[in-house]
Amino acid sequence: MNAQAEPLNLELMREAILTSTLNHGLRLLGDRWTVQVLMGAFMGIKRFDDFQAKLGIPRHTLSDRLKALVAMDMMRPRPYSQRPLRHAYHLTRKGLAMYDAVLMVWDWEHRFGEHDLPLPRRLKHKSCGHAFLPELTCGACGEQVTMHDLRFRLRPNRRLPHDGTAPARTPRVPVGEGAAGSLGLRLDRWALLIVSAVTLGCRYFDELSQVLQIGPSVLARRLSGMVEAGLLRAEPDPDDGRRRRYRLTPASRALFGYITCFAAWASEHHFNEPSSIAPVHRACGHPFAARAACSHCHQPLLPWEVEFEPPAEETT
Ligand SMILES: [Zn+2]
Ligand SMILES: [Zn+2]
Repeated sequence: MNAQAEPLNLELMREAILTSTLNHGLRLLGDRWTVQVLMGAFMGIKRFDDFQAKLGIPRHTLSDRLKALVAMDMMRPRPYSQRPLRHAYHLTRKGLAMYDAVLMVWDWEHRFGEHDLPLPRRLKHKSCGHAFLPELTCGACGEQVTMHDLRFRLRPNRRLPHDGTAPARTPRVPVGEGAAGSLGLRLDRWALLIVSAVTLGCRYFDELSQVLQIGPSVLARRLSGMVEAGLLRAEPDPDDGRRRRYRLTPASRALFGYITCFAAWASEHHFNEPSSIAPVHRACGHPFAARAACSHCHQPLLPWEVEFEPPAEETT
């Protein structure tokens, strides 16, 4: 992105971010419990009690999140016991399509997380027989991609309005609940939107406030929390020492894979709408469709072709 040199069109950026499939998708699935339920499902957890025991989710929260995932056709309940009636939750085709995004979160958690989540220790690609890390690739040409290989076109999407009429699903459980530093507390919806705005070129408090429509006191709190969590760096502005300039860190730059895979899922599998933030892969010239691929053989990754070492069990 060469946004630094040109003046930002903040109004266009605001419209594009707020009408993006990323923003709308995060409203539905961006809370940490939902992400953890999905990660658990990809690790083979199916039964209510197992989700609860292995992920430590409060019962009412878990039942609320499972209901939402079923309503979104991402999971399907199937009874495995009649008396008492118990259900196992299976990922549907639409749920399975979240795999790329989930792989990217795993990878991020391994590198930057607090290691307090029950994540697989290692991933192995059965098709090529090698341990791998998920890498971000372009769906059109298959080449590996970082944010610097893309340029972004902003095209606000009037069909995904941001006035609150779209179905919202903000977490009913306070975001601050639970272990400090765990996924979702650091990676909640606002943190991901702030990282996206900085990626698109926002550097200053007033720019972020205008683009994301966040009031000053809330934004100040969020930014200082993100600086503390290592997701942003604040430095004095070289032109005006009283102003602070915000930059991405290695940890927030590494969120790009998750953000783009999640936005791609939301576009292709939920909203059936193009994203208002439309990246183009400079090298091949095609619209960028984010895909996760095997770092060894560079082929796309399918859930049933990946084997994982389960997380270390507590020795009790
Ligand atoms: Zn490409
Ligand atoms: Zn492979």
